[in-house]
Amino acid sequence: MLVIQNRVQTVRRILISLLGISAAFQSSFSQEAEEYQLKQHMLSEIQRYAAMEKLSKDATPGQEGFDVTYYKLDLRISPSQQTVSGSVRMIATSVVDNLTSITIDLMNSLQVDAVTVGGVSASFSRQPTYFTVSLNRAYSRGERIEVVTSYHGVPDSSGFGSFRFSLSDNKPWIWSLSEPYGSKDWWPCKDHPSDKADSVDVWVTVPTGLKVGSQGKLVAAVNNGDGTVTHKWQHRYPIATYLVSIAVADYQQVSAWFKYSSTDSMEVLNYALAQRLDEATSSLPKTIDMLAIFSDLFGLYPFVTEKYGHCQFGWGGGMEHQTMTSLGNFGEDLVAHELAHQWFGDMITMRTWPDIWLNEGFATYSVALYREAKYGVASYWSYMTGRMSSAKQAVGSIYVRGQDTLSVSRLFSGSLVYNKGATVLHMLRRVMGDSLFFKALKQYASDPRFKFGTASTEDFRSVCEDVYGKGLGYFFDQWIYGEKYPQYRYEWGTRPEGSKHKVRISVFQTTGTQNPTYFSMPVDIRILGDGMDTTVTVVNNAPSQWFVFDMPKAPTSVQLDPANWILKDATGIRVHVDDVAALPTEVALLQNYPNPFNATTIIPFELPTSSVARLEVFNGVGQLVRTITSDRVFDAGRHTLAFHAVDQDGTALPSGMYYYRLVVSGAPSQVRKMTYLR
Ligand SMILES: [Zn+2]
Repeated sequence: MLVIQNRVQTVRRILISLLGISAAFQSSFSQEAEEYQLKQHMLSEIQRYAAMEKLSKDATPGQEGFDVTYYKLDLRISPSQQTVSGSVRMIATSVVDNLTSITIDLMNSLQVDAVTVGGVSASFSRQPTYFTVSLNRAYSRGERIEVVTSYHGVPDSSGFGSFRFSLSDNKPWIWSLSEPYGSKDWWPCKDHPSDKADSVDVWVTVPTGLKVGSQGKLVAAVNNGDGTVTHKWQHRYPIATYLVSIAVADYQQVSAWFKYSSTDSMEVLNYALAQRLDEATSSLPKTIDMLAIFSDLFGLYPFVTEKYGHCQFGWGGGMEHQTMTSLGNFGEDLVAHELAHQWFGDMITMRTWPDIWLNEGFATYSVALYREAKYGVASYWSYMTGRMSSAKQAVGSIYVRGQDTLSVSRLFSGSLVYNKGATVLHMLRRVMGDSLFFKALKQYASDPRFKFGTASTEDFRSVCEDVYGKGLGYFFDQWIYGEKYPQYRYEWGTRPEGSKHKVRISVFQTTGTQNPTYFSMPVDIRILGDGMDTTVTVVNNAPSQWFVFDMPKAPTSVQLDPANWILKDATGIRVHVDDVAALPTEVALLQNYPNPFNATTIIPFELPTSSVARLEVFNGVGQLVRTITSDRVFDAGRHTLAFHAVDQDGTALPSGMYYYRLVVSGAPSQVRKMTYLR
């Protein structure tokens, strides 16, 4: 989903009304004014929403015992009455023994008229946001259950709208937008993303002259001979409830074909109102380019045996309804964002709402990848620069915790979940390198554990680690579960030494948060001089660190992360080389802090040159209890390593005195004492 801020349009609207423009413009203007009012209304609802019971990240109680495999919505919409009536057939499998009741989400603004189980009338009890059906008998694990709910009423509206009746040119214009918790505002379902149905049919009966857009393929439009037509959409892929949609209007239809192999092609279908038909038509070739680019990056478009398409709706943004995105306009970035969701959001859905960045961060970053593929790297960077400046405004962690999932504005925070989420992928690309990063994206998108299912941040991390061959826990901890970003301050100085020029750079880092206290990142240092332009990459993994380089010429400037791979602030100054916070002149093992310590302490040490080093902990009788780091190369400078009071097997150590030893090749080893108090 993408919320578009309509500030520019608002200004234009004011100008138009001042100038008193022609009738044609007036009509499109009043349409926008209507959308604007609607949006204001929705915003006030977002605030109201937070208090509502239905905004739980957990499934409704009573829904653990069954797994939904299929929904058929058979709905009649009355635009004049602004009502919905009909039935929803749900097929589920019992996942427990002795299942005697099941709970279905549906707001009580809709009246349940009857429920049948296996074709036999069943009793049910109503709650404000759901109803519980008594099954006719106890169902065993693996047994199929069929529940048909007949209902009618005026759909409720929550979140970003859920279900809307409006007019365009005095004709009905009706659409749904259920994300995150609004499906139950208009149809009975198990409204949780972790339980995707394997397929869905959406049948919608509306007055003759209107078109209905929905998921999959339109298999029939049956004229009922009573002034109504039943539009039958059939979708044969797994789908989460919030991605089921309808859009109804006097749409014009345009389409084109995405040729995804020498012999096969798929329809790209746009339903647009007359005034946006040109836009809908001209966006088709671009959409086809996007399909090709994303198929190349992430694997073939997931729903290729059916279609991709757009329905114009009255909300000022876009929503990635499966195979049929709803759009307020056909802007290129918006179309790309929603299309990318078909892989990330629709094909792989976040398992629970706290991981919403797996949808929105990915879709946002995909726009940058589309721009890079189509228009070149400058377009990528200009897009990402905008995202990153927004990401710096983000407050809190990308991962949405606890009660925060009750707030729609927090779940869909632009700066945090979208823009910082996209920036995390941008940074991960730099950490892993292009070839492994893109391999990981493709592997994630094709992993049978997640494809057409759901995934968590930890699932994505594990795929990245498999491809990368190294742990990335630190990266996800600091960027997804942690907050803010590093603020670097660096000093540099230089002096000739023999035929070389020695450059010392000290890098200091603050984060303004305890989570994390510093960020570990590869940092590019660009050193410029007369005819010299060299970039070296250092691993900055401490609040303060020193680095030394031998350069062939005298440097005239030093830049930290000049390309902007890291979400950061950086200020640097040149100082006299002797004033660069001192580079260690010898190997030094420093006192740990805190000391005494409980659970965790930090051990600092300094190296005058890049060296192979090892850090070990011994107990009071001299037995090795833990190797904090085995032999590996460290840059010159100060380093800090954390020690958790556990042994090599992860077993907690007893209280007492311990020794830690630094072994550096070519230097005498050094030992210090520390005290652990449990
Ligand atoms: Zn989105």
